[in-house]
Amino acid sequence: MDQHVDQHQQQLLRDRSTQLFGRLPAGVWAAPGRVNLIGEHTDYNDGFVMPFALAEQTLVAASPTADEHWTVHSSTIGDGETVSFGPDELVPGMAGWQAYVAGIVWALREAGHAVGGAELMISSTVPVGAGLSSSAALECAVLTALIDLYGLEIEPLDRAILARRCENEFVGAPTGLMDQAASTLCTGDHALFFDCRDYAHEQVPLELAAAGLELLVLDTRTPHAHVDGEYAARRRSCEEAAGILGVPALRDVDDLDAALQKLTDDTMRRRVRHVVTENERVLLARTVLSDGSRTPAERFAAVAPLLDASHASMRDDFEITVPTVDLAVETARRAGALGARMTGGGFGGCIIALVPAGTADSVAAAVATAFADAGFGAPAHFLGVPSDGARRLAA
Ligand code: ADP
Ligand code: MG
Repeated sequence: MDQHVDQHQQQLLRDRSTQLFGRLPAGVWAAPGRVNLIGEHTDYNDGFVMPFALAEQTLVAASPTADEHWTVHSSTIGDGETVSFGPDELVPGMAGWQAYVAGIVWALREAGHAVGGAELMISSTVPVGAGLSSSAALECAVLTALIDLYGLEIEPLDRAILARRCENEFVGAPTGLMDQAASTLCTGDHALFFDCRDYAHEQVPLELAAAGLELLVLDTRTPHAHVDGEYAARRRSCEEAAGILGVPALRDVDDLDAALQKLTDDTMRRRVRHVVTENERVLLARTVLSDGSRTPAERFAAVAPLLDASHASMRDDFEITVPTVDLAVETARRAGALGARMTGGGFGGCIIALVPAGTADSVAAAVATAFADAGFGAPAHFLGVPSDGARRLAA
């Protein structure tokens, strides 16, 4: 997001906050949504992912209060909604969107941090429920605000772990660490290589502008159907396969051919092949993108086929794509994308396409036309601009 839009969102939020709470907020904090460049369904197999933070972000204007009470307003929900809660209400399983905020207070206190009351005003440009992780953006923005307001010392990785604890244990959504790690640890113009086993991570330079490229994010707006059941089935299949192969997780398979020979079920074989080859693709993408002996354009020329291969693997082996997603990827490629893939858990959601700079709109228009011809609803799109993770904004 350019500085101007950022300033506008922030000013609006400051004004609203001042109006509602009757004083200027002590500060404004931001945390971004994310997309995953490559590495799908590798997280729960102890593997590798490579997300980058978007310019779309959730902002929180916040002030400390003298009592142990939290009042939160979100302008993203309906026409705007104000809720408040005290310490007695910090009980896991809380209903509603406020659980993402209360859960952060709860997780901080569970970890022994002395966090007092606050007034919080929230706005967001992260589409909610589109697989771009508006939930982590909300958690990480609120967490960063409370950490600064109360002068807490928490390392960046521990912040991500704390935000995940909110989502897993308080909200009750069984997610991995990728979303919170991306929203916390990402830096502008970089992707984040993240090892989901030991949480080792590394900034991977993208330099899209120097490569003459941009990343189109296209939301197919396909209603997700059966996602939870399908997700659970994929996860189970991977765990069963690891058990048969005698490894702690599929990440530990180092001879794919030998592993495939040991498995008798064809579906399970294809699931394993996706996870193992996807991990290889993430590692290769990291190596290529970090290779200072190649120009940025040369690096992406090598990454594009990895995106294509990742998509084919999700479509044919892991079977998590749907017709809208496949059509979007194929059309983007025909319209000039160097490479394209579905991003996110699957069964709908977004694709990303690596396109020549200045062509994102025309590639998206080609997809929109193809969707109309096929009788699909209109997709939405925006530029994926690799941006900074959670931070305090200058006034
Ligand atoms: P995703 O993270 O893919 O956008 P989730 O279902 O994980 O989808 O999280 C979406 C939920 O997070 C929303 O239903 C809402 O409860 C909460 N949420 C996200 N952003 C906001 C916001 N700006 N204001 C209030 N609630 C939000
Ligand atoms: Mg989420």
